[in-house]
Amino acid sequence: MLKNTYVSTYSLMPMTPNIPETTKKRVVIIGAGFGGLKIARDLADSEDFQIVLIDKNNYHQFQPLFYQVATAGLEPSAISFPLRLAFHYYKDVHVRITEVTELRTDSQEIITQLGAISYDYLILAIGADTNFFGQKISKKRLCQ
Ligand SMILES: Cc1cc2nc3c(=O)[nH]c(=O)nc-3n(C[C@H](O)[C@H](O)[C@H](O)COP(=O)(O)OP(=O)(O)OC[C@H]3O[C@@H](n4cnc5c(N)ncnc54)[C@H](O)[C@@H]3O)c2cc1C
Repeated sequence: MLKNTYVSTYSLMPMTPNIPETTKKRVVIIGAGFGGLKIARDLADSEDFQIVLIDKNNYHQFQPLFYQVATAGLEPSAISFPLRLAFHYYKDVHVRITEVTELRTDSQEIITQLGAISYDYLILAIGADTNFFGQKISKKRLCQ
């Protein structure tokens, strides 16, 4: 009974990105792949910016070594690491694991599964999807 009460109360709590208020300019980086991780590391020591790094996964993956993992030459843990570990020692880098669903450039905010996050500067580093440009035969052959 107690457990059920706890769960229902908890589920009513609104989710929040819970990013501290600051007088610094806030840089929001979406994507912690090659590009996002590099810029976050470059800015992490800055006195001028608060960094918010967002990714839908809680880890970075080094894609060029996917083949070695797929062929059992490497352990998966050799090519991926937790994002929070990478920025553990930086006091004004805030990692949030959530998916960005909308950009609102007029109001300078992004919409995530955790709620809205405002920004002064926005960096999009969300990678790319394969595009076959409507070539159905190429897609069929390459994805077999
Ligand atoms: C098998 C393989 C081998 C490769 N080999 C090489 C190589 O030898 N040399 C080389 O230079 N390049 C190589 N590449 C390419 C290289 O890995 C990519 O060019 C590089 O990862 C692109 O970096 P990125 O930061 O643009 O995107 P990614 O590294 O793809 O990062 C994008 C990040 O954004 C996140 N994201 C996406 N959408 C959202 C969203 N809506 N909300 C929150 N987060 C989101 C993703 O989770 C991801 O972490 C290889 C790629 C693959 C797949």
